[in-house]
Amino acid sequence: MDEITTKIRKIALQNAVEHGGKTQDKIVLAKILASEPQFRSRVKEIMPQILLVVSSVNDLGLEQQRKTIESEFPGLLAEKPKKEEREGLPPLEGAQHGSVVTRFPPEPNGYPHIGHAKAAIIDEEYARMYDGKLVLRFDDTNPEAERLEYYAAIKVGLDWLGIKFDRVKNTSDDIELLYKKSVELLGGNFAYVCTCKQETISANRREMRPCKCSLGQVEQNMERWEKMFSKYKQGDAIVRFRGDIKSENTVMRDPVMLRIIETKHPLLADKYRVWPSYDFAVAVEDSIDGVTHAFRTKEYELRNELYYAILDALKMRKPRVLEFSRLGFEGMPVSKRVLRPLIEEGKVSGYDDPRLPTLEALKRRGIRPEAIRKFVMSLGFTKADTMAPFETLESFNRKIVDSESIRLNMIKNPANIKVVGLPQTITVPNHPTKEMGSRTIQLDEGVYLEQEDLQNIKVGDKIRLMGLGNVSITGLGPQATARYAGDEMTSDIPKIHWVVQKTAQKIKILVPSQLFFGEQFNESSLEELNVFSEPYYSELKDGVEIQFVRFGYCRKDSLLQAIYTHR
Ligand code: ATP
Ligand code: MG
Repeated sequence: MDEITTKIRKIALQNAVEHGGKTQDKIVLAKILASEPQFRSRVKEIMPQILLVVSSVNDLGLEQQRKTIESEFPGLLAEKPKKEEREGLPPLEGAQHGSVVTRFPPEPNGYPHIGHAKAAIIDEEYARMYDGKLVLRFDDTNPEAERLEYYAAIKVGLDWLGIKFDRVKNTSDDIELLYKKSVELLGGNFAYVCTCKQETISANRREMRPCKCSLGQVEQNMERWEKMFSKYKQGDAIVRFRGDIKSENTVMRDPVMLRIIETKHPLLADKYRVWPSYDFAVAVEDSIDGVTHAFRTKEYELRNELYYAILDALKMRKPRVLEFSRLGFEGMPVSKRVLRPLIEEGKVSGYDDPRLPTLEALKRRGIRPEAIRKFVMSLGFTKADTMAPFETLESFNRKIVDSESIRLNMIKNPANIKVVGLPQTITVPNHPTKEMGSRTIQLDEGVYLEQEDLQNIKVGDKIRLMGLGNVSITGLGPQATARYAGDEMTSDIPKIHWVVQKTAQKIKILVPSQLFFGEQFNESSLEELNVFSEPYYSELKDGVEIQFVRFGYCRKDSLLQAIYTHR
């Protein structure tokens, strides 16, 4: 009952202050039931309590109510009701409520990163905005790069972000259908099979010269198409779209639609050897999946002409393609192409190395999925390629973790001090304003302080050990000494944090920073701090967020290691 009385008092005081000094029992009851639903069946029990508290709070008057809040619930007045952070996305051209379909098409060739989060979140937000559908389509038509492990990692990452799909499929499910469409292209003379050498094809494309093969008749192409499944080997033949070899848009210079890849596919093994290219697969798949609005990053913009040309040739329904900017961070690569070699060369420890923008790494570092969503929404749907400051993501995250993080003391550069006259134990709250329980600390004479905190202290000075009380300094040097001087609050003395030496827990804190300065790999991008934490650290579960007092937020990675999240 005590705990609920405190809550009633807090709500009554806050509500009174917000309403000119008066609160009402019904309002307090409603608020209590909203935050403590377990009391819905116990209204009779708590109502007398509410009536009492409300009348005593109303008797205080506005000024006294304010003062009471400041002493009993410090920080409460500064907490403003939370405003919805979502900026909202601009309306979609041609979108009809109830019939919008978007899709997220990752290639399972690496671990998901925050760039994928941006794409998937925008896809999902638009689908929701129009009460539409979202499709997850693994774009898996390049067996050389794809691995089973990555399908799973992508799904795990998307689940962590809280993205809900209405349908999950693979492009490789539709391979037979893509063959049919290829035959249609060849039959309609919209495509041809080219058996030229790679160098010849490249040179001809560069010089805007048609290949011999493009002059072949439909029959020749059909024969060659059959041979792609038997006689031809990888590199011997490709299906090319008849674009415009003289086009200013190089993408249109008879691009590849299908090619032979003999590597085993992660799902289909060696069942197929002819694989559609990205351009061919994405256009056909978007169309048959019912996608109405297909988003992709800006560097694909030149491919739009091809996308529409393929669908025109096949007389298929055309989705609208829209581009947004690629998300990037200064000195932090957001691209599988750059990330993979870093991992393979051992420059970072793995896909969850805290310096990386992969979802695994962000999670391990203590970034919350809700913060990523807010961050992405705050950037909006823009085409401008700006580097987003990582600090913006951090500030969204800070707002979330602040109210959930236990406050603990931790000392980086210990200075020894011997304090006489301390009480045996003290009990301190785990959070200054939230109900997060408390812990009891066994005190002892030997205490660690931060060296720099002692720098400007003289013998005779008083300092406050936060949460514990005041001490008077009686000696300085390698073994400083002090005497406990009671718990009276004095505003003008330094307030510092401390750790009891006897029970201090030695842990390591990994502090990630920028991986690159320009092109240059930053060799000291992962700092390791050996520190002393309060022993309570060892009682916390792995994965919890902690605020080390006067240092910053960290996520407990293991018994012996934490990772710095941000300030
Ligand atoms: P990477 O360079 O990491 O390989 P990608 O574009 O090849 O990127 P895909 O798996 O093909 O990776 O991407 C799936 C979707 O995610 C695409 O729609 C792509 O446009 C989008 N995407 C990938 N990286 C970013 C990014 N940095 N910012 C925004 N969207 C991205
Ligand atoms: Mg790709």
